[in-house]
Amino acid sequence: MKTVFSGIQPSGELHLGNYLGAIRNWTALQEEFFCYFCVVDYHAITQDCEPKQMKTRVFDMVSDLLACGIDPVRSVLFVQSQVPEHTELCWILNSVAQFGDLSRMTQFKDKSQRQADNINVGLFDYPVLQSADILLYNAEAVPVGQDQVQHIEFARRLARGFNNRWGKVFKEPEAKLTSTPKIIGLDGKAKMSKSMGNTIPLGATEKEIRKRINRAVTDPQREKREDKGEPDNCNVYSLHGCFSTDDDRRWVAEGCRTAGIGCVDCKRRLADNLIEHLDPIRTRKAELVANPDEVHEALNKGAEKARQTAAKTIGKVRKKLGLWQG
Ligand code: SF4
Repeated sequence: MKTVFSGIQPSGELHLGNYLGAIRNWTALQEEFFCYFCVVDYHAITQDCEPKQMKTRVFDMVSDLLACGIDPVRSVLFVQSQVPEHTELCWILNSVAQFGDLSRMTQFKDKSQRQADNINVGLFDYPVLQSADILLYNAEAVPVGQDQVQHIEFARRLARGFNNRWGKVFKEPEAKLTSTPKIIGLDGKAKMSKSMGNTIPLGATEKEIRKRINRAVTDPQREKREDKGEPDNCNVYSLHGCFSTDDDRRWVAEGCRTAGIGCVDCKRRLADNLIEHLDPIRTRKAELVANPDEVHEALNKGAEKARQTAAKTIGKVRKKLGLWQG
């Protein structure tokens, strides 16, 4: 069975963009691969992060992951800072990473613009820690969206660079592009994200889900009910593609092109389908919130399993480097 590594920042409660872009895919990967799912809290501190919120954010994230179907028995679900080998390997890989490569990282440039008053070294070094996350478990595949492919290529170069210089330890991971790499938000413009306010939290109430979908931007050609539209130009239709049946999608496509249905009908059907889809997730999440020990236990066991593998890899790395063994 091949190994997969995936990381997600503890941004609190999951939203539709995370779910469609990553988590739904993660649950399916468990069928085919041995998976490590890591909540990357060390990455989170490169951005403004309130310490008082950290625990709550991790808890919310992990309980959502479990509610979505991440199975802590089949997969290894853990928090990055519980396995110190991540930062140890990051430091070692810093001696392989090239300044020029890191300077060219698109994500670093984007984030530097967004947080111009806090361009810290951690932000610059982020891809090295990410490479350490992956290489520590000798993951062969990393499910990512298009925007992360550059980082995985970088991890491959680091693995190759280390192996060439000190001897083979690491496999070169491959980017496994997700089938829905970029989810456009309800504003029809930017990528779906919590910070843009163009998404729906997985735990939203029915009322909130309907309210947010009602506000979603539609095909601009349909100003009035009688106007004919083109569903392929409408993000509401692409969301139907994620949550509705083939019959519903046909009904929308035909009704939109012929003005047989209005946007209100179309959005109502999407909201119905989304609520039905999210219902079991919200129920399971409520159970976990009522029983937090289950979440803590899953994380403790996950960290234990992750540490075993991480310690073996670091042992090999230290040996190759000729570090003092005591
Ligand atoms: Fe979009 Fe549906 Fe309105 Fe067509 S009918 S423009 S797919 S919301």
